Amino acid sequence: MSEKKIPYKIYLTEEEMPKFWYNVRADMKNKPAPLVNPGTLKPMTAADLAPVFCEELIAQELDNDTRQVPIPEEILGFYKMYRPSPLVRAYCLEEKLGTPAHIYYKFEGNNTSGSHKLNSAIAQAYYAKKQGLVGVTTETGAGQWGTALSMACAYLGLDCKVYMVKVSYEQKPFRREVMRTYGASVTPSPSMETAVGRKILAEHPGTTGSLGCAISEAVEVATTTPGYRYVLGSVLNQVLLHQSVIGLETKIALDKYGIVPDIIIGCAGGGSNLGGLISPFMGEKLRGERDYRVIAVEPASCPSFTRGKFAYDFCDTGMICPLAKMYTLGAGFIPSPNHAGGLRFHGMSPVLSQLYHDGYMEARAVEQTAVFEAAEFFARTEGILPAPESSHAIRVAIDEALKCRETGKAKNIVFGLTGTGYFDLVAYEQFNNGTMTDHIPTDEELAAGLAALPPQPQLD
Ligand SMILES: *Cc1c(COP(=O)(O)O)cnc(C)c1O
Repeated sequence: MSEKKIPYKIYLTEEEMPKFWYNVRADMKNKPAPLVNPGTLKPMTAADLAPVFCEELIAQELDNDTRQVPIPEEILGFYKMYRPSPLVRAYCLEEKLGTPAHIYYKFEGNNTSGSHKLNSAIAQAYYAKKQGLVGVTTETGAGQWGTALSMACAYLGLDCKVYMVKVSYEQKPFRREVMRTYGASVTPSPSMETAVGRKILAEHPGTTGSLGCAISEAVEVATTTPGYRYVLGSVLNQVLLHQSVIGLETKIALDKYGIVPDIIIGCAGGGSNLGGLISPFMGEKLRGERDYRVIAVEPASCPSFTRGKFAYDFCDTGMICPLAKMYTLGAGFIPSPNHAGGLRFHGMSPVLSQLYHDGYMEARAVEQTAVFEAAEFFARTEGILPAPESSHAIRVAIDEALKCRETGKAKNIVFGLTGTGYFDLVAYEQFNNGTMTDHIPTDEELAAGLAALPPQPQLD
């Protein structure tokens, strides 16, 4: 291959930036299973979803066929404030590892929310505004989604009510203040403000909460408050659609230099950054044009892909949301309070779940201390202090690069660096003090969550 000198950072010009989101479902032979009404066990229609979600987002959620969705001008304008995000050739990391591999990372932490979540937050807030709504409700785990949504709502003049997983609310008071500065209200979840919160607290007194609990509360408030809808930062098809901007930019940047990735790696909580990063590459793979290895990385404490079941399940602990078919640990599973808040979700994107089920991608579970070792190594080498979530991808990228050192093969490794870790310093403190632990749920613990899966719908 012609050796064009590859810069440390590959940027795109405004003209080169994607003008469309790419909907990978259009190229999937086996479409992701539809959301199902837990009462009737029939697929949710647009009318069923209307009390919960914004109209245009429902249309995007249900659309398995449109390949390219134009990004509205207003959103393109907002994207220009912090995009394109850099694609970095990790020369320093390669050298330090002594690997022949070429490592690239797409850095999404270059905005105040500190993560990729802003890509979908602005889209969802835009469609809510366009529908004439007063505001939106949501949950947040580690706080990145709540922050991103607060920023988007402030920009568009929408009210924003955030239910924040209690363990994160307590560990990350500064996150809360960022959100409040952008005008959002922030409530620790489970709270006494909602019926579902009161029920969860009665059943599990002293619970540190989970994303599933917080989702239930946010949905309850959205459906009982006029002029409000609920928005979700991950898992849903629409979120993967918006996040495809990550993969599209990555592909345009790589194509400029004739670079073809061998391995694409991303952390997976609900699957949005990974789904977005891999979308255009997966499209080529699905169409039989090219092959890539894709690796999803999850915490060993919340191993949806590697130890979960592919089944219909609730997305929330309160069991008021539609059922989604996905790799799940059971909606009742409350993971140990580890430090990858954004990866502590019991389920997984139905799109990624279907792709994984059909053998288009691999998954790996990694332990917390090994993740922080990788984070520390990366910070000292490439300079960026990574989010714990992102560091799951770093761990596996380093492992793959070390394999290249053994085999002498110069593979192209691309990974998603989803965000920065400035609000995760309690976790870094534990790691630095040597008090961080690894919790891996036992088979018995997992069996309890899986035994409680709801009745499975029989769709043709
Ligand atoms: C939320 C978050 C994740 C995980 O969410 P996905 O939907 O799986 O992408 C990963 N990294 C960061 C920095 C996050 O904020």
